[in-house]
Amino acid sequence: MIGHLLDGKQFASNLRGKVAGHVAELTRTHGITPGLAVVLVGEDPASQVYVRSKGKQTLEVGMASFEHKLDAGTSEAALLALIDRLNADPAVHGILVQLPLPSHLDSDLVINRISPAKDVDGFHISNVGLLGTGQKAMVPCTPLGCLMLLRDHHGSLSGLHAVVVGRSNIVGKPMAQLLLGDSCTITIAHSRTNNLPEICRQADILVAAVGRPEMIPGDWIKPGATVIDVGINRVERDGKTKLVGDVEFGSAAAVAGAITPVPGGVGPMTIACLLANTLTATCRAHGLPEPEGLTA
Ligand code: NDP
Repeated sequence: MIGHLLDGKQFASNLRGKVAGHVAELTRTHGITPGLAVVLVGEDPASQVYVRSKGKQTLEVGMASFEHKLDAGTSEAALLALIDRLNADPAVHGILVQLPLPSHLDSDLVINRISPAKDVDGFHISNVGLLGTGQKAMVPCTPLGCLMLLRDHHGSLSGLHAVVVGRSNIVGKPMAQLLLGDSCTITIAHSRTNNLPEICRQADILVAAVGRPEMIPGDWIKPGATVIDVGINRVERDGKTKLVGDVEFGSAAAVAGAITPVPGGVGPMTIACLLANTLTATCRAHGLPEPEGLTA
């Protein structure tokens, strides 16, 4: 390993500490406690783990946590009615519907029912449009976390060539928008991209958000580049389940100037940014100044 390790675990812990400080101040001076409602439909084991973790960390920073666990057969009408109630509840500043939803539910319809001001995942079409046009939006948590790590490491990102591999609405596209907002030159790659290794080798910043274990080896990376590995993949190694990213860490770390590990890189940033977004939403809802450095 010669590259600098971008320690998302430590950064996320500092960010949660900062959020907790602002929450305490908000409660002391204004009597406001930010509240985050998380809605889980069904029993997907990974989703249950995420929701538990979100609830725990929400309480740890001094926010109120409202968990709504609905059974897998919940009707669309019942789910939309719950969202309407949460939209109208002044104790709830942020609403997150855990994805994926069971297949009989229309995710777009459900997400777009959330009030944009409470859409702390940043997936509502209004927030997507605001981000795309460079206006004040709620920004999706995972790309926001990546941006924070990049800004912390580089200071200015202006003029750097960023290659984002993956074009999902959750990670790839908003990541590209955020980097464009910071004046990077952007290439977005995907499964139909020709000459992917060549394109990756041009990147000053390489963001991998693909979902394919260790797909990107060190010889696709320009020496000194910064590598952000969003991938979380479970693989079997020596009879054990191990988490690996989309980047082959060993060979990549030998070439990169800086790199996020998996686990302990982007992963912990996602929930920390969810909490930061909930604080931002609370300040906006009450017309209070937003703490600096919590959003894009
Ligand atoms: P999606 O499956 O929605 O998107 C994957 C993207 O990768 C698609 O755009 C797809 O292209 C592209 N892709 C697939 N195969 C290739 C290939 N061989 N070459 C180039 N591009 C390819 O995944 P997500 O964006 O939701 O997630 C990506 C990864 O990030 C996953 O491992 C996921 O677990 C992880 N993740 C981590 C989070 C965290 O908190 N750290 C949060 C969210 C996701 P196409 O569009 O052409 O199909």
